[in-house]
Amino acid sequence: MKALVKRKAEVGLWLEDVPEPDTGINDVLIKVKRTAICGTDMHIYNWDAWARQTIPVPMVVGHEFVGEIVAVGANVNDFKPGQLVSGEGHVVCGRCRNCMAGRRHLCAQTSGVGVDRPGAFAEYLSLPMSNVWEHRPDIDLDVAALFDPLGNAVHTALQYDLLGEDVLITGAGPIGVMAAAVCRHAGARHVVVTDINPRRLALARQLGATRTVDVGGERLADVQRELGMVEGFDIGLEMSGSPAAFKDLLDNMCHGGKVSILGIPEGELAIDWHKVIFNMLTLKGIYGREMYETWYKMSVMVESGLDIAPVVSHRLHYSEFQQGFAAMNDGEASKVILSWE
Ligand code: NAD
Ligand code: ZN
Repeated sequence: MKALVKRKAEVGLWLEDVPEPDTGINDVLIKVKRTAICGTDMHIYNWDAWARQTIPVPMVVGHEFVGEIVAVGANVNDFKPGQLVSGEGHVVCGRCRNCMAGRRHLCAQTSGVGVDRPGAFAEYLSLPMSNVWEHRPDIDLDVAALFDPLGNAVHTALQYDLLGEDVLITGAGPIGVMAAAVCRHAGARHVVVTDINPRRLALARQLGATRTVDVGGERLADVQRELGMVEGFDIGLEMSGSPAAFKDLLDNMCHGGKVSILGIPEGELAIDWHKVIFNMLTLKGIYGREMYETWYKMSVMVESGLDIAPVVSHRLHYSEFQQGFAAMNDGEASKVILSWE
């Protein structure tokens, strides 16, 4: 089968013929229809320090996908060929304390599809049945291919009650703009999104941000006044990984404000702890998606009108993957979909 392979320990990916994956007795074999390029894939493509440390070469990469089941292992009773599915890219052990307690996103022995086990940028993908998520057959295939990053947005946004609250999202990358859509869908009042890239801020407005702020030229404190907010934001979602954005966020929270942190800073990050302590802020790190409450929430929100399709900026065939990775690298793209049909 065709697959995008990290063949060599250097910058790039290679489109190659590789053997189809084995389908074990507990596995489901999926014919991939569409995939999306994630920041993680960019780290792997660009072969940065994280990738050099993490990715065994050769490796079929990619983990954001939708496809159709074509075969199931002997132990699999709940899935059958023909079903439209995506999958959770974190494969967990099932036996550690967290897994046994139902907190599978906190498993200490997680392996990653397209990271340290064969990925989804391929014609076929084999996944344990416990990682498979079925879609309704009428779902938009691009949206279905985005359930993994949409799940990051949903997991982060739904940590706290959003109804009637004022939300600040720092970072209008694909996850930040999808989070804006989720917050609006969940009944937030003001959903203010910051970035330094006007194109990304325009996309945030398209997805539902009620006000966007280019922090290169505007101050959040002024925007708060303009919106008639006297005490600061109730909820903060950090989705940039930028130390400057995190500082902005902490400076603009209300007393007792609640913050979820998804963005990954490059290294250690100093913050003004007085703001956290004297204002009694709650700070919570977020990893991955809850298995499978986040997936359930995504499915029902999409079914009840949540529309994230505008986050897709490029639709290409897998043979044009170089163009997709280039568009991601130069900041032109938000989400690139590759078709495998
Ligand atoms: P992205 O890099 O595409 O988006 C980040 C955005 O932040 C960019 O648009 C950038 O212009 C903006 N930004 C930079 N400086 C800023 C500033 N000072 N103020 C406001 N915005 C600023 O990333 P993404 O794919 O949308 O992902 C968002 C973050 O979440 C990334 O840091 C990513 O590494 C992280 N992430 C974490 C998890 C997890 O499980 N914790 C999973 C996926 C992604
Ligand atoms: Zn575990």
